[in-house]
Amino acid sequence: MDSIRELKIDEIEKLIIDLGEKKFRAKQIFQWIHQKGIYKFEQMKNIPNSLIEKLEENYYLQNMDVEKVSESAEDGTKKILFNLKDNEVVETVLMKYKYGNSICISTQVGCRMGCKFCASTIGGLKRNITAGEMLGQVYEVNRMIDKNINHIVLMGSGEPLENFDEVIKFLEMINHSEGYYLSLRNITISTCGLIPEIKKLADKKLQITLAISLHGATDETRNKLMPINKKYPIEELLKAVDYYIEKTNRRITFEYAMIKDLNDSASEARVLSKLLKGKLVHVNLIPINKVEENQFYPSDEKQIIKFKSILEKTGINVTIRRELGSDINAACGQLRNNYNQTKIEIIEKL
Ligand code: SAH
Repeated sequence: MDSIRELKIDEIEKLIIDLGEKKFRAKQIFQWIHQKGIYKFEQMKNIPNSLIEKLEENYYLQNMDVEKVSESAEDGTKKILFNLKDNEVVETVLMKYKYGNSICISTQVGCRMGCKFCASTIGGLKRNITAGEMLGQVYEVNRMIDKNINHIVLMGSGEPLENFDEVIKFLEMINHSEGYYLSLRNITISTCGLIPEIKKLADKKLQITLAISLHGATDETRNKLMPINKKYPIEELLKAVDYYIEKTNRRITFEYAMIKDLNDSASEARVLSKLLKGKLVHVNLIPINKVEENQFYPSDEKQIIKFKSILEKTGINVTIRRELGSDINAACGQLRNNYNQTKIEIIEKL
């Protein structure tokens, strides 16, 4: 059986015609799935039973089950663990802000980028997450909170640009006027800096926000934290950033996780100022979140403020990000697929 959430409207059309049904049904079915967010075929009220039966024979609608929900006592952030059809698990985080509900979705099960401070990378990459499974994370959480999610960040586990085609398909489907119809301006994609894909994305001229995880102003610093920097060093990355801005005229966000005594010195801030001066960018400073398996600690508040002011003196736009959900390991970089490991441990104990 296949997941019907994977099908674009023209693919549903083809399917409907193959089943000997009228073409206009495709739009209705697409609307039920993506606009109304139903989770059972029988909820498609204007579709004849005979067609519903045919769909049920070949497809399933819900492509994941909720395995576990943790809620932060501090800020109400929720971490949802989903079980996918092949029993892989994936984590999604729901954050509530003054302006609405924001969701952080995963784009891969695990990750192979190897950033030293990140928990998602610990077990390596298992597989890509499909467009339908990205949509599923949004729809299932929507149903859980009985409200509409109006901001999506692709910042959960995985490297979105390594799963390029499925991410683009996800964007097309979530933005479809007969579907969820979310503006691309309300979507942020975060990358560790895959240069060819940044350029490919630039050529698409989408209205999304691109965020780049920088975390260092020199190759020496960045090499210590992010293996990808050896392949795509800072100078090359910044050329790709210029290309992206030129093509899209969209402001890029640089994420900079502040790590005590590693990348938070005044001299690092001065180098960063020089690199970014005059560019259409915004820097987001994030005190690093503690991950059990590594020895990185967040910078002192005083140091973060000093770093910020050095950048601001050059006219760079800087914010300090408040972290949500850290008490339930739902903050940036804390997502990891350790559920399977726990299951294995339990089996071994028996
Ligand atoms: N692979 C993509 C998106 C997933 S990571 C990327 O690298 O951007 C999302 C963000 O969380 C990235 O900026 C990443 O560097 C950051 N991150 C990872 N571990 C973190 C940690 N322990 N504390 C703070 N941010 C972290």
